[in-house]
Amino acid sequence: MYNTLLWFQGLSIAAVFLTMVVFFPTWKNRIHAYLFIYSLAVAVNNIGYFIVMSSGNPITTLWGTKIEYMGKLFISAALLFFMTEYTGARISEYTKRTVIVIHALIGVLVFTCEHHSMYYENGPTYMDFWTTEGLFPHVKLQHGIFYYIYVMMVAGYLLFATFSAIRQLVHERRHKRKIQTAIIISCGLVMLAGILVYSTGVMGGYDATVISYLICLVLMIIATIKYDLIAALDAVKNYIADNMTEGIVAIDTEGAIIYNNAIAERIYPSLREKDETVITQLIDAFEKDEVISIKKSYFKVEQSDLTNERKTFGKLYVIDDVTVEYNHNKELKLRSITDGMTGLFNRTETMRRIEEAMASGNGVSLVMIDIDNFKSVNDSYGHDVGDTVIKGVAKIMLDLTYIDPKLSAGRWGGEEFMLVMPASNVDEAFDAAEKIRLAFAETEFQYAGFRTVSLGVTSYTEEDDADGFCKRADEALYTSKQEGKNRTTVK
Ligand code: GH3
Ligand code: MG
Ligand code: MG
Repeated sequence: MYNTLLWFQGLSIAAVFLTMVVFFPTWKNRIHAYLFIYSLAVAVNNIGYFIVMSSGNPITTLWGTKIEYMGKLFISAALLFFMTEYTGARISEYTKRTVIVIHALIGVLVFTCEHHSMYYENGPTYMDFWTTEGLFPHVKLQHGIFYYIYVMMVAGYLLFATFSAIRQLVHERRHKRKIQTAIIISCGLVMLAGILVYSTGVMGGYDATVISYLICLVLMIIATIKYDLIAALDAVKNYIADNMTEGIVAIDTEGAIIYNNAIAERIYPSLREKDETVITQLIDAFEKDEVISIKKSYFKVEQSDLTNERKTFGKLYVIDDVTVEYNHNKELKLRSITDGMTGLFNRTETMRRIEEAMASGNGVSLVMIDIDNFKSVNDSYGHDVGDTVIKGVAKIMLDLTYIDPKLSAGRWGGEEFMLVMPASNVDEAFDAAEKIRLAFAETEFQYAGFRTVSLGVTSYTEEDDADGFCKRADEALYTSKQEGKNRTTVK
């Protein structure tokens, strides 16, 4: 019997290590982590007990029991976390940390206690539990305060986890969840049975909890492989994150990237290399409330805090593709400020730009243009031909604005135009006016042939208001008409 149990003990250590090797590479979530810690703790427990069973002297036996107890501490914690979280409940980080700290403290006490009287009663020396009776002829375990602490703790955990699982089972209607919850309940019952069997002493001093730990491990593996709802949940979360329309980037409190979804990577391929300059861009765009332009797309960034149990652990950036909306708004804006036929700014926008330039303090000049004898074009060749002549003036003005983007070309009325020249003096404005006049005079139109324009030029002075300023350009233009057209007058 003794040898059989020893063999069983040895084999189970090997089996537990094998489990760990199999599970370690597929470790994906908290449940897997608990399973791993549980396996490790069971292995430590088994090794300790193996030493107890096979040792030939009291000192080795004592160290065996210490190692065994260390295993027990982490078995109980891992099992508590596994059982409660597996059925869907979340244990707070605070509770988890408290449990681990308490267990670690007990572990330290048990390991360092010189006389072991806290673990083994009936001092004064460890020689007292060296015996020749019972299943193991050389060791007789007598339990002290720590043993009872452990039994009470583990029984408390098990009762808590088992009862909450039973409560869940009662309300559960889904078949798969029922099986899953039943497995968790079995884990609790097996463990409780192990403790019960051992305390009645029917196994002649053999620690039956060792067997229940192993049965429980098998149940936990079945639950994890076959009914892993947490893994399914993670898969669902990843699926949603990768198939939503927004890009997501999460950073920790030190600004390092901790997560990004597939969309974010499509927007910023350098995220694959955890490129942190992306974060700088996102923060900048969010703070300035600006749209980010990448290739022909536009993105808006939203920022929010990542919190867990009221503690901020990072920031989340949601990158929304607003290209359609952005282009639509741009189109609307453009349409509201331009003239459809010529593509020049409309009168309202031209006026706004004149006022803006006046307010800038850098000076501004105006060139006002009117086509000569335009009525005769309309009358002789029709409105459509008249339109091509209007477009002819517009094209010459637009060409000037391409060369000097600070200029604005506007359609002031039917066949009247205004060139706004910020930060330009009257000589520069006169040169621009002459360029337009000569270029237009050289343009030959189908049907309408060669036509001319008259122009008026003026520069802004401190005393001007916008109306007076424009009126002076108009007066200069009128003078050109009076003096025979096809000329530029400065006023
Ligand atoms: P002047 O040399 O003194 O300027 O003589 P004008 O014949 O050009 O006289 P005016 O500037 O008053 O001409 C305005 C005409 O322009 C009246 C209107 O029929 C025509 N017109 C206004 N808008 C349009 C337009 O969009 N298309 C066409 N084809 N004609 C227009
Ligand atoms: Mg005219
Ligand atoms: Mg006119």
